[in-house]
Amino acid sequence: MSDYQLATLAVRAGQVRSPEGEHSEPIFTTSSYVFSSAAEAAARFAETSKGNIYSRFTNPTVRCFEERLAAMEGGAACVATGSGMAAILATCMALMKAGDHIVCSDSVFGSTIALLNRYLVKFGVEVTYVRPDDNEAWRRAIRPNTRLFFLETPSNPLAVIADIRAIADIAHERGVLLAVDNCFCTSALQRPFDHGADLVIHSATKFLDGQGRCVGGAVVGNAETVGKEVFGFIRSAGPSMSPFNAWVFLKGLETLDLRMRAHSAAALEIATWLEQQPAVRKVYYAGLESHPQRALARRQQSGCGGIVAFEVDQERAGAWAFIDATRLMSITANLGDTKTTITHPATTTHSRITPQERDRAGIREGLLRISVGLEHIDDLKADIQRGLNAIGK
Ligand SMILES: *Cc1c(COP(=O)(O)O)cnc(C)c1O
Repeated sequence: MSDYQLATLAVRAGQVRSPEGEHSEPIFTTSSYVFSSAAEAAARFAETSKGNIYSRFTNPTVRCFEERLAAMEGGAACVATGSGMAAILATCMALMKAGDHIVCSDSVFGSTIALLNRYLVKFGVEVTYVRPDDNEAWRRAIRPNTRLFFLETPSNPLAVIADIRAIADIAHERGVLLAVDNCFCTSALQRPFDHGADLVIHSATKFLDGQGRCVGGAVVGNAETVGKEVFGFIRSAGPSMSPFNAWVFLKGLETLDLRMRAHSAAALEIATWLEQQPAVRKVYYAGLESHPQRALARRQQSGCGGIVAFEVDQERAGAWAFIDATRLMSITANLGDTKTTITHPATTTHSRITPQERDRAGIREGLLRISVGLEHIDDLKADIQRGLNAIGK
């Protein structure tokens, strides 16, 4: 199906109809699979015959999700996982060994930093953090034992853009793999493989589901790295995706293209409007004229997504007063939902990292993050206005 457009792949790719002729994708809730004979069982285990054995390894509904997402990203192989963090863990466990070194953007999801700093280091993996937008810093951080570059772009929550092409070129000069967490744009707005990335990581929990129902993740890449190595880790360790969740994500993918365009349009309108508000010190959104990397964002993304971050006056007191004055938005740490959500990163998503790490990532006390949903824009603005009024400017 590779000559189809993304919106078509999102609806059609990966489906294999059963003899029942079902139109919608079925949910295969089975833990194991039966073989026609002892010899066939042996052949499956010996991997001389293809087919399902056990749903920790493969499941038809999960495979449909994997093939659809692989087609949308333009990758050869995809492995679905039980969460976005499990996708990052599986990538590291499959590809790194003691003594290896990761260079990671300092503006990644808080749990990613916690995973690397608290757990990967216990197994002798070294980590260096660099600014995602400082290409030379990526180059300088390379050591003889560097194996992986890891970044998110746009970053969470400050919308710092990493130049995927430039950083991929630096990585490849030294045989290093580049992994891009594509959570914020998704394949609907950004395809990291087109810019040289080797691995694409997703938290399916966010925009792929799009309606805040299930936790899941995925790693996309080539047949060797993902199809064999990452898959091998999932098969042995078991952070697999459940078939029910895979089905929910399949239904999410079908509307991804539409939703990402709607989220982007509403977020741009809100970001532009917030910039004119006296109680707002700074707005972080790559679609704004004022964003220092707007040209780069336009080059590698076809939209800027639904996440808007902004700093309000009066530090934490101002940010919390804002949140508590809203009535429509949900106070939750999740994002990528049809329902607009509001979060205070310093005390929630980024609270588990040290104050120094937070400072380095630019997460200040007055910072708020809104994941702009699909409610009517006028109702959203009215709700944001309640928050602004609470700061008293
Ligand atoms: C949420 C998130 C993750 C982790 O995904 P989970 O599904 O919550 O485990 C990773 N990266 C980014 C950018 C995220 O927003």
